[in-house]
Amino acid sequence: MVFSTLFSELYHSIKKTPNSGEVAQYIPELALVDPNKFGVSLVKLNAENFHFGDAQEKFSIQSIAKVLSLTLAYKICGEKLWERVGVEPSGTAFNSLVQLEYEKGIPRNPFINAGALVVADVLVSELKNPNDDFLAFVNQLCHTQVSYSKQVAASEKSCAYVNTALINLMKSFGNIKNDIDQVMDLYFNLCSIEMTCQELSQTFLFLANDGVCPLSEQEIIDHSKSKRINSIMQLCGFYDEAGEFSFKVGLPGKSGVGGGIVVVRPHEFSMAVWSPKLNAKGNSFLGTKFLEKFTTKIDYSIF
Ligand code: GLU
Repeated sequence: MVFSTLFSELYHSIKKTPNSGEVAQYIPELALVDPNKFGVSLVKLNAENFHFGDAQEKFSIQSIAKVLSLTLAYKICGEKLWERVGVEPSGTAFNSLVQLEYEKGIPRNPFINAGALVVADVLVSELKNPNDDFLAFVNQLCHTQVSYSKQVAASEKSCAYVNTALINLMKSFGNIKNDIDQVMDLYFNLCSIEMTCQELSQTFLFLANDGVCPLSEQEIIDHSKSKRINSIMQLCGFYDEAGEFSFKVGLPGKSGVGGGIVVVRPHEFSMAVWSPKLNAKGNSFLGTKFLEKFTTKIDYSIF
């Protein structure tokens, strides 16, 4: 299958739908991104890859990085991790405080902000140089040098009112062990990582290959943990639209407020799409439509 031709066809058909989304405004630096960007990249396990549009342009991966921080924390801590964060869909917004109070500081899953803050806390406890060591882990998956964006991290820090409330609430329940500023710095940094669609699809390929990076043949995480991370992506990867995404696209994945979406088809490929305008639930408007058409057209969901 020559995916590049199909990508072009699908892009031109979805472009006819008016894009009613909005670029994320609550992090000032993200609001500056050109809303008309669109890129897609697919990498197969045999290293064949296909690209379309702005697939070589860097963008802020934001919450997509939460899958990578979860992978490293789960690799280090094993099943003990689940004593501090759950694996259930939240059904509330990604930064909601409501559930956290009555569930006594244990976040529903590692992909809502509260859960990702707990995972960042775990990494601060376990890594010698958390910021450098986490980036080295990501670079190992990506096979290129990616970096944190100082501007994006500082921009998010300048208005992190809700994340600050979340972490303080969890600290009051004893579910944050380290200094709040240190944990927040790692969290802002990991959200600020910039990648192209091509780098992002390459980075996630180990999750399509039972935890083994096909290029280096290195085991990143064991088979069972890889399966579990995929199932959390399927159930919790798309904010409180995870059901709808699964219904329409049918692949495990994760989105970010930078407009990126990465999906995995186990034993076949990983694929990244980027279009900055977000729908009301915070997922890329055109990215979601594109993936829906893609899996429908070639009957390529996991179901
Ligand atoms: N850094 C963003 C935040 O904490 C990530 C949000 C996202 O991409 O879902 O709000």
